[in-house]
Amino acid sequence: MTTHVRCGSLFSGDDAAPRRNVTLGIGDDQCIAFLCDTADAPPVAVHDTVLDYSNLFVMPGLIDVHTHLAYGNAKSEEDIDLYQPLEFRALRALFFAQKVVAAGYTSICSPGDAGQVSLSVRNAINFGLFEGPRVTAAGRYLTTRQGLTDWYPTWIGVPDTSIGRLVTSKDEAIEEIRVQVKNGVDCIKLALDGTQTRGNGELIAAFTQDETTTMVTEAHRLGRKVVAHAMGREAVLYAARAGVDLIFHAFHLDDACIDAILASGSAIGPTMTFQRNIIDFTQPHEPAAQKGRPAYVERQYAIACENIQKARKAGVPMMTGTDTGFAVTPYGEWHALELEIFVRDLGFTPAEALRCATAVAARFVNHGSKVGVLEPGRLADFIAVEGSPLDNIAILQDKARIRHVHIGGKRMQIPERGYDPRQVTDRSLANWTDLYTQDRVRELYPARRQLAAAAE
Ligand SMILES: [Zn+2]
Repeated sequence: MTTHVRCGSLFSGDDAAPRRNVTLGIGDDQCIAFLCDTADAPPVAVHDTVLDYSNLFVMPGLIDVHTHLAYGNAKSEEDIDLYQPLEFRALRALFFAQKVVAAGYTSICSPGDAGQVSLSVRNAINFGLFEGPRVTAAGRYLTTRQGLTDWYPTWIGVPDTSIGRLVTSKDEAIEEIRVQVKNGVDCIKLALDGTQTRGNGELIAAFTQDETTTMVTEAHRLGRKVVAHAMGREAVLYAARAGVDLIFHAFHLDDACIDAILASGSAIGPTMTFQRNIIDFTQPHEPAAQKGRPAYVERQYAIACENIQKARKAGVPMMTGTDTGFAVTPYGEWHALELEIFVRDLGFTPAEALRCATAVAARFVNHGSKVGVLEPGRLADFIAVEGSPLDNIAILQDKARIRHVHIGGKRMQIPERGYDPRQVTDRSLANWTDLYTQDRVRELYPARRQLAAAAE
């Protein structure tokens, strides 16, 4: 049995311009059997199915390499680490994973989560218990004293339910990597930025070069990839020299970092949506605003735009990610804003941005050689969109335009279900920001969002 998908236009993920009037054939093995002009397509047999997407734009399912499944739209560190049991976080993650699919995302990397939440969600989906995106799962971030995720006072430490795992020696780090690998993670997450700065404001890396290299070498020896949170120049440099596969943020990279990244074959996931939303959405009453966070983030964002463009021009591969999972980046809401940022602020063409979110990002996630591009032999993970994102990249943020999502050929049926954020998260005493869904942002800033323009 073959499913014949008649596509008005089709962007394979690998080409500069879409093809018109093509048919995508899906076989019983969840893979693409053929892709050809509709005029030349094989005849439709008796038990075959025909899907008429002739007024839609078909492209590979989108990939977000930075979606934290366990955070639950967190409003504070405590929300991330403390207030819900791991078992509830896993159930919540499964619920939110559906919202990610509905937004057109068929693969994600969940780079750092408490317990075994992400890999459990991955397994539940892989085993066919629930529908959801393909998940590439990390476990807890490896951190050290004064590193990211070691954010409570020393007398509290890093609790067991935290997203971080505090290691205080190379031996402990190796032990933790081996435990996580045994438990079944796909990648190891390193918290490479420290919390301390030099006199000139530069962030000091949390780990030394030697420690970083030891951790990456051990993860690679065990056949796992490594991702790192590295905002500061020093952390980016250590990550690149150690051969970290995917470096997040890299806002303060310099030429030495670029050279090291090119030499090691690393990629960057700038993940600027989180910062953009803090700048654009934060209201004056929120603690984030009162602490001057939006203004600080805006300065960082401007530096990042300049530096990331340098890396792009030098040929560093860029992957799209959003840091979804915070209240400022709720699940299913802003994933595709990163593509708009790639075009507007980082100098990519719309076709290049689409490739970053498909063919390029596929190089990192599970089944990398089978997703991200539409061609015979690959898995039939694709979406059908109303309108062309090549004409206006912002339309991908309009959920109503994501008409169909297929994973392994199967059309996802995602129920439209609401939730009360005060019940699912929202336990902490002081919050960073409110919850910024698209509806809420339109309500607050009617003139400000581009989505109105996108819908023209
Ligand atoms: Zn993150």
